[in-house]
Amino acid sequence: MQNDPLTTLVAPDAPIDAATHGGRAKCLQRLVRLNLPVPRTISLSFTAVKRIAAGQMPDIDAVNEQFDVGALLCVRPSSEDPDWGGPGAVLNIGMNDAQYAKLSESLGPKAAAVLYSRFVQGYATHVARLDPDLFGFDQDEGPKGLQRMLRTYEDEADEPFPQSRTDQLSGVLRSMARAWEGTSARLLRQAKGAPADAGLGLVVQEMIPGLGQRECGSGVLQLIDPITGLQQITGRYLSQSQGRDALGAGAAALYLEKDPRGASLEELAPEAFEALKRDAALMRCKLREEMQVEFVIQDGAVHILDGVRVPRSSRAAVRIAVRLAEDGIISRQEAVMRIEANSLNELLHRQVAPDAARDVLANGIGASPGAATGRIVFSATAAQASAARRESCILVRRETAPEDVRGMHASVGVLTEKGGMTSHAAVIGRGLGLPCIVGASELGFNTRDKILKAPDGRVLREGDIITIDGSSGQVLAGEPAMLEATLDDAFQTLMAWADAARDIGVRANADTPADAQTARNFEAEGIGLCRTEHMFFDSGRLTVMREMIFADTSAGRAGVLARLLPMQREDFIQLFRIMEGRPVCIRLFDPPLHEFLPASRSGQRELAEALDLPVSDVTRRIEAMAEYNPMLGLRGVRLGVTVPEIYEMQARAIFEATLEANRSGAPVVPEIMIPLVSAKREVELIKARIDAVAAAVRSERGQEFTFRLGVMVETPRAALRAAEIAPYVSFLSFGTNDLTQMTYGLSRDDAGRFMSDYVRKGVFPEDPFHVLDIEGVGELLKLGAERGRAANPALTVSICGEHGGNPESIAFCREAGFDYVSCSPFRVPVARLAAAQLAI
Ligand code: PEP
Ligand code: MG
Repeated sequence: MQNDPLTTLVAPDAPIDAATHGGRAKCLQRLVRLNLPVPRTISLSFTAVKRIAAGQMPDIDAVNEQFDVGALLCVRPSSEDPDWGGPGAVLNIGMNDAQYAKLSESLGPKAAAVLYSRFVQGYATHVARLDPDLFGFDQDEGPKGLQRMLRTYEDEADEPFPQSRTDQLSGVLRSMARAWEGTSARLLRQAKGAPADAGLGLVVQEMIPGLGQRECGSGVLQLIDPITGLQQITGRYLSQSQGRDALGAGAAALYLEKDPRGASLEELAPEAFEALKRDAALMRCKLREEMQVEFVIQDGAVHILDGVRVPRSSRAAVRIAVRLAEDGIISRQEAVMRIEANSLNELLHRQVAPDAARDVLANGIGASPGAATGRIVFSATAAQASAARRESCILVRRETAPEDVRGMHASVGVLTEKGGMTSHAAVIGRGLGLPCIVGASELGFNTRDKILKAPDGRVLREGDIITIDGSSGQVLAGEPAMLEATLDDAFQTLMAWADAARDIGVRANADTPADAQTARNFEAEGIGLCRTEHMFFDSGRLTVMREMIFADTSAGRAGVLARLLPMQREDFIQLFRIMEGRPVCIRLFDPPLHEFLPASRSGQRELAEALDLPVSDVTRRIEAMAEYNPMLGLRGVRLGVTVPEIYEMQARAIFEATLEANRSGAPVVPEIMIPLVSAKREVELIKARIDAVAAAVRSERGQEFTFRLGVMVETPRAALRAAEIAPYVSFLSFGTNDLTQMTYGLSRDDAGRFMSDYVRKGVFPEDPFHVLDIEGVGELLKLGAERGRAANPALTVSICGEHGGNPESIAFCREAGFDYVSCSPFRVPVARLAAAQLAI
């Protein structure tokens, strides 16, 4: 058993590893090696604990003999990853009648009674498995309470309380080893990511009582604030206490550093405080991490019992990593690797404070991260009225349509009954950085009576305050405490380090100048997708868009297009100016027509007024244009082929804007992208038209410009036929929202209704609209990229579906040799960090 000792002294030369003895044992050994004042400690390996659980007791006398005869002991769990938890620590092993008599003299009867009572309580409930209610423990009861407890033990267990330290230790080790094997403990740790066969180590440590005649007590100390990550000594200390008592002691506990809010350890025991600070700084430096130090002061002297990685908010995690690197303790690359990319979402958006109570009304799909509190409104108009009163509101709709976008702008968050990760509300919400929950069908939506009904029967009405957590998908009652978003200097520094390591481009999907500005603020390298139809969501412009859709004569259409041209030109000039020469990829109109036509009676009336037509005409025309399957109907390039003047107008607006932007700023090479292509001939037809417009603008203006033409690969056929499409274009960009929809035959707007069932039952490992389906859709991406590049080696390949911001999908795209990913502006930092981590 040379390589697998049952017990190992936690001494500098003993072989202890987190994978065999657990993280706590490993950490304690490092503290011992640093010559910190750690009490004598023994570590039992995973194998030893497994054997104990199976009834094969090691030689406990041998363990016992490692400690002084009169010493008290404690046993604590040591799992491989401290987050996996473990059975609670048992303190004061070794307390018996003789020890009690002895300690009554040295520490006083009250302190001795507290030590003994605490042990009897732990032993009775964890080892003898007696009813915990019978062993309530009140520090103030003193010797009387102890005697009562010992009598109760004897009555309930039918034997006197065990007096031998070896017997006590055997019982404690056995009960802790078995507790780890229990079903609920197993499920709990698996939920935290532990493997099914995760092992448990145990550490046996000599107790420093923390009680006594001179200054004694226990506490925890950190060198940072765990919420902000700022340098500040935090933690608490409680005189005459043990374990983690100080953390639950409320006002009785002391601050560590001098503090205007109350008494401090610094004032009470300045020397001990200085020693502690020195020890904590040494731990930070040598363990290369911000540590939470568990300590005891005994008669004025400091003892270090344990150290764990400080639990921290995402914001603090960034600051900690950056400061460790700036102090030369870790490398910049390690700092970049230490931050989970998705956790940046918590910095970019307001969050429900980690310690706030959550009164959950219902769950939906968290479609756009961040949390927002506001009064419920059921229409865009009510949202605008609320914004005018400067009252925050949450827009609640069964689903959203373009006419709701103005309401979304006026709201702090959006909640819908229907939809999935790529439905209208989700896409717009992410674009605006607006928290959004979709598919919350658990809430009974009765929008006509303006009522929501939670599964537990609670009824919510317009004006009631709710909070939506777009990160978790939880709809909460009331207004929990929030943590504000911060893009501090530490964040900027970390992102700069990430960019230095990254080897795949990151662009943003940005439709409006405001989006483009956000994209620049987050340092996107360009715009990878500008959905031009989204430029017409503004209430003033929606009608023009509708007029264009409605125009049924060439002359009528020419009139509307002539009004649209200057609007578009101005939009593009602004985008080019904001992006200062960085690439801007503009997608030609792809309006799923049904999204743009008014469904409500009042909307139809408004449109009738604008068109100067009777409402009945408008209704009839809307009915005539209705499609059975609008997502697969007259959209994208199909509109461009059947009504070519629309794309011609857009191409002209792009070229005229290019010339205008070139006059005053960095030269622009616009990228024009054709959506929803499925056949080579579609590209041929559109390319010929666009080339003709380019030639016309060049000759009218007598000025040169260049542009790049590309195809958006959103249908399986376009991916399969990439070889014959690629020679016509400079780039292919995979629109994985539609490509996922079409590959699965799964409606992106309706899938939310059953997606959680599908994921729960393991039909899909994840929502494929959220995490790219590498096996199926991914194969089309690979195949399309390969075939396209074989036919046109200079081809640029990218992804611009919502998956572009997802770390796992980015890993796939990088592996497949894509040039860049493009995602919602607020996802850009996540994508930059995830991409850097892949390259390190
Ligand atoms: C896509 O289909 O992936 C895409 C980006 O386009 P949209 O979401 O506008 O359909
Ligand atoms: Mg699409």
